[in-house]
Amino acid sequence: MLRKPASVLLGFGLSVFVSAQFPGADSPDAKVRKGYDAITISDAKKILSFLAGPECEGRGTGQPGFQKAADFVAKQFKSAGLKPLGDNGTYFQNVPFYRNAVEIKSLTDDEGKSLSTDGFALQSIGDVDLKGEVVLIRTSDPKATLSDEALAAVKGKIVILDPPKEKNSLRSQLFTSDATAIFTLTDEKPTSSTRVAQRKTSTGPVFGAVTGSISRAVAASYSRSLKTALDAEKSSIPVITETKFSLNLVAKGVSEEVPVPNVVGMLEGSDPKLKNEIIGIGGHLDHLGKTGDVIYYGADDDGSGSTAVLEIVKAFKANKVKPRRSIIFMTFYGEEMGLLGSAHLANNPPVPLDQWVAELQMDMVGRDSYGVQNGDRNRVDVEAENKDTIRLVGSKRISTELDQIINQVNRYVGFKFKYDAEDVYTRSDHYNFASKGIPIAFLFDGFTPDYHQPSDTVDKINFLKLTNAAKLYYLTAFEIADREEPIKRDVQSGK
Ligand SMILES: [Zn+2]
Repeated sequence: MLRKPASVLLGFGLSVFVSAQFPGADSPDAKVRKGYDAITISDAKKILSFLAGPECEGRGTGQPGFQKAADFVAKQFKSAGLKPLGDNGTYFQNVPFYRNAVEIKSLTDDEGKSLSTDGFALQSIGDVDLKGEVVLIRTSDPKATLSDEALAAVKGKIVILDPPKEKNSLRSQLFTSDATAIFTLTDEKPTSSTRVAQRKTSTGPVFGAVTGSISRAVAASYSRSLKTALDAEKSSIPVITETKFSLNLVAKGVSEEVPVPNVVGMLEGSDPKLKNEIIGIGGHLDHLGKTGDVIYYGADDDGSGSTAVLEIVKAFKANKVKPRRSIIFMTFYGEEMGLLGSAHLANNPPVPLDQWVAELQMDMVGRDSYGVQNGDRNRVDVEAENKDTIRLVGSKRISTELDQIINQVNRYVGFKFKYDAEDVYTRSDHYNFASKGIPIAFLFDGFTPDYHQPSDTVDKINFLKLTNAAKLYYLTAFEIADREEPIKRDVQSGK
């Protein structure tokens, strides 16, 4: 097919650029055109606005928002007619996780009077039974430290720390003391910690000092002496007040089992023999979730990759021409906890791994990178230079043919590939397939200062890039799945 003259495309200006491909890209041929055209910016926006919106609360593994996102993905898989590859005829390949938390049973003063636990929260998770005199430590100076003498004096005491507004070193210094508990005052109402893990971490007594937070107003309500001390002007030199007031706290670690799923579905190949061979397409559905009241939306990481997976599902559905090999679509749990979901799937594959031809991973495919890359001050990206770039990671390690195919189909998309991010090769789900010798390619946009921050939000996504990532992998997957011979491997392991 002839390449469209660039001048014609550019002549249409911004509207063409926004609605379809990067400038200069060719139109794909009829066999894949329907699927390619089914991937749209408006649809991707709808999907990502849900996955990285308030309802899914940052999709923390084991948190309710993750399950909402997983239900959404499963529904999309179903409406595309994918074959469920999870447990008991569902799309969910579940594993048990535990939601570990702490319940405050009683909080009383030395006379046995109940104190409000409404603005009282524990960060320690486990069994707590403590009683002690309260010592208040206050300072307005973020650099203030305590003398050895002062540290020794808090042994066996319950410390309430009224810290400076800025981050300070006093709290960590207090951890070196033998204080029984360290409760930090907050202006907002604190919430007790909940931790999701693969095992129960809530049983048994808390090791070391019990930590927590108390809202300033609630602490002032506990005793007259505490209130008086809190009302006084703060000084830069730390002031230690013996409040002559005691607290008695009983709390219990609790653990609830929650199933957490990989979502897995398959488009069966059209060839009776070749359909036993698999091309995997994956992204991780989880992000950092909600901590207290803060939501880590994870629009780029990896709402973008999950959205692109769903766009590719739609593309295959829209095209009546099915490729000869089968495609398995996967959205993983627990990537942010150490690639857990993909490790589970690679160790418990719904189709034996020796039948897998390739795994195509997308993790962060919607941003124009800028700033320092992966902590390396010699690699500083400029946003304006990265509108149409994307990093191709690991694509030459196991099968150079895979890399060549991606570059060939890219003529219909128009990405400028960068090959400068092999330092993140082990940092996403594809690695669990690569280390077992399956050829992989990892699409990754690079870093911005929003990486792993609550500010990784939908409004910052370049949807042209996101949808083009989906188009690129749609075309790649179709090509690998439909060609006569499976792609060749140059090495046996990508470790
Ligand atoms: Zn991440």
